[in-house]
Amino acid sequence: MKLKVLGSNSRGNCYILENEHEALIIEAGFSFSRVRRALDLNHSRVVGCLVSHGHGDHARYMAGFAKSGINILASESVFSSNTLGQHGKMGIAIKPDTEYVLGDFTVSAFTLHHDVPCLGFLIDHPDSGLIAFISDTRLCDYVIPGLNHIIIECNYAKDILEANIRSGRVHHTRGKRVLLTHMELESCKKTLQSNDLSGVRNIVLAHLSPDNSDAARFQNEIATLTGKNVSVAGPGASINLAG
Ligand SMILES: [Zn+2]
Ligand SMILES: [Zn+2]
Repeated sequence: MKLKVLGSNSRGNCYILENEHEALIIEAGFSFSRVRRALDLNHSRVVGCLVSHGHGDHARYMAGFAKSGINILASESVFSSNTLGQHGKMGIAIKPDTEYVLGDFTVSAFTLHHDVPCLGFLIDHPDSGLIAFISDTRLCDYVIPGLNHIIIECNYAKDILEANIRSGRVHHTRGKRVLLTHMELESCKKTLQSNDLSGVRNIVLAHLSPDNSDAARFQNEIATLTGKNVSVAGPGASINLAG
């Protein structure tokens, strides 16, 4: 199983989890034509698209996905949010702690802590094992047994954000919102440490802030802490999430 990253930050999020036969899209923050290009112009193997929450960088292109016949799974609040305008219902309104079967993928959702309702996902497939997807959130208070891969937001480091606020690069109001809504490096470490990582083969750091992060430092600190294979979900990355 491969994780292809089209983008992973506030400018747009979209990931494709795929093997030769099936593809599951996570987030609709890139246009469907971009996704089709990433799928070699053949989207017949797409089994669905998960959308974590209604912010534009995750949900902006949902309507285009739905028009192309992609089954979208998101919370009721995403379907009814204003960003979708006239398109209304276009998929399955998922409820936490319920399993959804999409081809050989089994998906369930859990609630996160953002400034709008936001879901994390547990994605199981025979080719990868159990994958957790956690973004956008201030914290994650779940302990999830049996994980094999973790895709987790690591948005900013407090010291970088504070320096940016001091220098005026980041406005303090925006800085305050970041503190309340996105995952800081130390919270990411705490979340990882509170889980049993013995079966985890990959940690993928996602949704790094263009202003308030340092990809090499984050990757290095998380790898040192966990002893795991750590990748950063940069645009164009292709990460092997083998079972
Ligand atoms: Zn976001
Ligand atoms: Zn968001």
